[in-house]
Amino acid sequence: MTDTLTATPLAERIAVVTGASRGIGRAAALALAAAGAHVIAVARTQGALEDLDDAIRQGGGSATLVPLDLKDYDAIDRLGAAINERWGRLDILIGNAGVLGALMPLGHIDPKVWANVMDVNLTANWRLIRSLDPLLRRSDAGRAVFVSSGAAASCRAYWGPYAVSKAALEALVRTYAAETATTPVKAMLLNPGPLRTAMRQAAMPGEDPETLRTPEDLAPHIVRLASPAWTDSGVIYDFPTGRVLSPQGPA
Ligand code: NDP
Repeated sequence: MTDTLTATPLAERIAVVTGASRGIGRAAALALAAAGAHVIAVARTQGALEDLDDAIRQGGGSATLVPLDLKDYDAIDRLGAAINERWGRLDILIGNAGVLGALMPLGHIDPKVWANVMDVNLTANWRLIRSLDPLLRRSDAGRAVFVSSGAAASCRAYWGPYAVSKAALEALVRTYAAETATTPVKAMLLNPGPLRTAMRQAAMPGEDPETLRTPEDLAPHIVRLASPAWTDSGVIYDFPTGRVLSPQGPA
């Protein structure tokens, strides 16, 4: 027999998911909604958000669509104000949206490409924290999950802007975890490993996507990280190995 409480472990919880229009963010949004959360879905592509909304409703869930460019930082502030007005708190933030930028030597990268990668992968996540931290603190179990990458540590040739942005994101999130250590808020990182998405296809055009795991494989793990039962903060959840990594260096 299915236990209703277990089937909807995130009932009544309010969740923001960035990059919800496709790939990992879309799968996360669907899984969070299926687990009972009301999903506030953020991305630029309105049509894809509307498709997501249809899919969530078909599953019996609910969503609010927020078509915005995460480089519009004032819009991120307005999002926080709107959530405050409607719900007065936020339970879950999934900082997933990201861009790859250009894969090329550091000396060849157009400064506009560099700035765009930093703006979306790093600064937007800081602005989300800045806007939404007061609301997460008002939840009884605020959970903030940010999607990083193995590139943050591997420092491979030609992945410069992306790797630098993800390494800085990891520093940002660990700092946020330290600042919320005495509160119910938990902040963590997620390394998805290679997954079958548009970004991976752009990065590795010669790869057979059928050999990769999918965002739908990852999504239940995002639900777990977002749930009140998850209590590790400042850690990296490494999906390829299923291990929880504590990146703390020497004191
Ligand atoms: P996709 O390219 O499939 O999706 C990226 C998402 O980010 C889209 O929903 C896109 O929405 C959104 N986005 C990009 N730029 C903006 C912007 N300026 N404003 C608002 N939304 C934006 O990528 P994945 O699903 O593969 O990646 C998701 C996350 O996972 C990223 O952070 C990525 O770095 C990370 N990752 C992915 C891996 C993989 O193998 N797929 C491996 C390791 C990490 P829209 O275009 O509609 O705005």
